[in-house]
Amino acid sequence: MLVVGAGPAGLSAALALRAAGMEATVLERRGPDAVRPGSRAAYLHGASLATLEKLCPGLGHEIAAEGVMWSTKRSFWAGREIFSKTYPSLRRSGLPPFTSLPQVRTEDLMAAACRRAGVRFHWDAEVTSAELGPDRVRLNDTHGGSWTADYVIAADGSRSPLRSAAGIPLEGPRSQNTFVIVDLDDDPDHPVPIERVFHYHHPGVGGRNVLIVPFAGGWRVDLNLLVDDVPESFTSPEGLRRWIPKVLPAAYGERVRWVSTYRFAQQVAARFTDEHQRVLLTGEASHLFAPFGARGMNSSIPDAVRAVDAVREALSAKDTATAGAAISRFARERKEAAEYNRACASAALEHMLADSRSVRLRRRAAAAIAAAGRKAGEWLDSAPYGPKLAARRAARTSY
Ligand SMILES: Cc1cc2nc3c(=O)[nH]c(=O)nc-3n(C[C@H](O)[C@H](O)[C@H](O)COP(=O)(O)OP(=O)(O)OC[C@H]3O[C@@H](n4cnc5c(N)ncnc54)[C@H](O)[C@@H]3O)c2cc1C
Repeated sequence: MLVVGAGPAGLSAALALRAAGMEATVLERRGPDAVRPGSRAAYLHGASLATLEKLCPGLGHEIAAEGVMWSTKRSFWAGREIFSKTYPSLRRSGLPPFTSLPQVRTEDLMAAACRRAGVRFHWDAEVTSAELGPDRVRLNDTHGGSWTADYVIAADGSRSPLRSAAGIPLEGPRSQNTFVIVDLDDDPDHPVPIERVFHYHHPGVGGRNVLIVPFAGGWRVDLNLLVDDVPESFTSPEGLRRWIPKVLPAAYGERVRWVSTYRFAQQVAARFTDEHQRVLLTGEASHLFAPFGARGMNSSIPDAVRAVDAVREALSAKDTATAGAAISRFARERKEAAEYNRACASAALEHMLADSRSVRLRRRAAAAIAAAGRKAGEWLDSAPYGPKLAARRAARTSY
């Protein structure tokens, strides 16, 4: 079986293929040691750890052991603490409820597990064209190599050449506001408590929202710019030295490891398979979400697992109609999951941006009573991550 892309979706698909006793070949554009900057999908849900553990016993624990967890979360409104919660202990004997580790490290652990499981990697192998036929898929790479397979799992990221070859558009909007995302190295001389902190209207940064999340070895800070802001004035070395000391100890202004700006797409592929039902779209090839609620990578893992299940069913089907039905079922289920995740990420984004008067009023009213009423503070603390139900449902159904 061919998998295109060695990001989290492709690596999960390769592990799932090997767990099912099938051969797995991964074609990846970049080299094995290419630098992949940024913490990106640092937050792994417990459900993702459990799935990886099931695909490759030991892997979920290995990832969890390298990541960090926090037992305290806090929210502030205009500099005043409106909510905090400390959980008694998150370390249990089994897998933890989440872990936070830079995506590149999670990918390295997954790739090592793939190698142990016998996955064949072809690095520096960029797929340049694809011919999608009724019985087979043929891929051509930059080295003049050509590959054929009954089915291909497309895990080739947001610009997915396979999605383009299948003529499938991504549908949905992109946020107007820009977010500045900064990774900072830990500073042992100026330790910061390992807590997740969200600020509405941080007074030190002109009332912009700020999210501060620990990951193993550092801190991720998301600054929610206003529509008229000039991003460069926040991402230049001088800009970073100006605002970071307002949200963390001053020394962190000199600890920047990576900085980037994003406008978040909220897009889902029109279909998750091609007209011949031979290419199965997974991960960012099929959906793009704002990161609030951490649904990108966490839903790419079940995408990949379901794609492998569907291919397995299709390969053992007694006729082409049954095979096609298995692939269609995958496409329908994962599209439904992606639409659900997009709706949750949209709710979080809408809450963060507060473009509408009703959201602004609700937030302000909740902040006004948060000191007296714990429920209002709890709502303000959780809303930037999407509906609470989403997390529970995600854990139950591997969305
Ligand atoms: C700033 C930011 C923060 C994020 N935070 C979170 C978070 O906290 N939690 C979360 O769950 N998600 C988060 N995400 C999303 C997460 O990074 C993605 O969902 C995840 O990387 C998707 O994995 P993927 O395997 O589908 O795609 P990718 O990671 O993009 O992997 C695709 C792979 O395909 C390869 N490829 C592309 N084209 C070709 C080709 N033609 N031939 C061969 N190979 C090819 C690429 O080189 C790449 O290795 C974040 C994303 C961003 C940008």
